Amino acid sequence: MKEVIPTPPPIVRNDVAAIQALFQKHVVPSYGRFDLVLSHGSGSYVWDVTGKRYLDLGAGIAVCALGHAHPAITEAFVEQSRRLVHVSNLYYHEPQGRLAEAIVKLLAPGKVFFCNSGAEANEGLFKLARKFGHSEGRFEILTAHNSFHGRTLAGIAATGQEKVKKGFEPLVAGFRHIPYNDLEAVRKAISPSTVAVLIEGVQGEGGITPASPDYLLGLRELCHERNMLLLMDGVQDGHFRTGRFQSFQRLMEGAPNGKPFLPDGLSMAKSLGGGFPIGAFWVREPYADLLGPGTHASTFGGTPLGCAVALKVLQVIERERLEGNARRVGDYLKIELSRFVEKTPSVFKAARGLGLMIGIELATGIPAFAKEAKIASIQFVNRLHAAGLLTIPAGSHVVRLLPPLNLSLSEAEEGLRIIERVALDLSA
Ligand SMILES: *Cc1c(COP(=O)(O)O)cnc(C)c1O
Repeated sequence: MKEVIPTPPPIVRNDVAAIQALFQKHVVPSYGRFDLVLSHGSGSYVWDVTGKRYLDLGAGIAVCALGHAHPAITEAFVEQSRRLVHVSNLYYHEPQGRLAEAIVKLLAPGKVFFCNSGAEANEGLFKLARKFGHSEGRFEILTAHNSFHGRTLAGIAATGQEKVKKGFEPLVAGFRHIPYNDLEAVRKAISPSTVAVLIEGVQGEGGITPASPDYLLGLRELCHERNMLLLMDGVQDGHFRTGRFQSFQRLMEGAPNGKPFLPDGLSMAKSLGGGFPIGAFWVREPYADLLGPGTHASTFGGTPLGCAVALKVLQVIERERLEGNARRVGDYLKIELSRFVEKTPSVFKAARGLGLMIGIELATGIPAFAKEAKIASIQFVNRLHAAGLLTIPAGSHVVRLLPPLNLSLSEAEEGLRIIERVALDLSA
């Protein structure tokens, strides 16, 4: 295939300050951005406009499942865009049908709705739940403390973190929060209006906290008993990141004698398009037709281009057995990071996670961080940037690794060496 994007010349083509000035002047300042101005990427590496190379263990917050500029993805883009980029959902087309089929095969009998982001996928689940409970006047959805479900109005109402809600009151009604991994708390919180529970299998923004298999099984039973929907937000922990398609499948490997577990609805986005914005939710068989014609829609949802790219991402993951890689390289990273925790307790408190979804919890009161007002996670991430590594902060004390699923062992080792060097520096 012809090369589509020419290799950038090895000179500084853009001035960092000039690009940042464009943002200051013209972009709504809703993000706290790091100082880097990125230019291009290849595999697990990205380069900034000054030519500095970084190992990217953030992958665009768990989005670039195959790393940057994967040739198969480029090819899918080119091939599909030559045929049909967009047609609207007034018509049928093959890629959307095929992608829905692939997702159903990976989960269980049911159907899929396509949208463009994680927040939108969750919105679909909220509407599904409301439709389900509507004739009985039930509408309330229970979600967990420290959860994250997106930045739309319903998303911030669903999210169990005060910081996303502040300044946007009054909040969308019908959400209440319960402590995570506490089945009794759910049981007690159920009111006559409650219609669903929504949780993440592994809390991502909350700092990489997995649900226990007992909690999931307990929720399943409870929701069944009380005729409530059990909904899962698989936006960050899904798409083979934990070593299985969905985190609950990996978590259930630890359940007593392989008890079956299935949620009633599941949202997806982030890695689904490997960098192309596409979201989806899957809904289990008996509820799959609840959202009938005219009840829900998205202009851009499930375009031929987005679906063709997502199908290609799935094909590459399967062909290259990347779920096994996520498990293997993830285990290696976690074991090595746990060693760091033992070796430098003044810097690291814990390492946790599943597969390539890893959280490193920093110790409190790292002396070198006292000089700056910035929270510890940001200061640590900044030091990693200086050393050539991209990672993602979560809250004040957790740094996340959410690398591409095809990260190699030697790249993982390179990342570990950088983290180790920065930590030794801090403990000196
Ligand atoms: C990122 C994320 C979302 C929101 O996804 P967007 O694509 O940013 O709307 C929702 N839930 C979880 C668990 C996420 O990590």
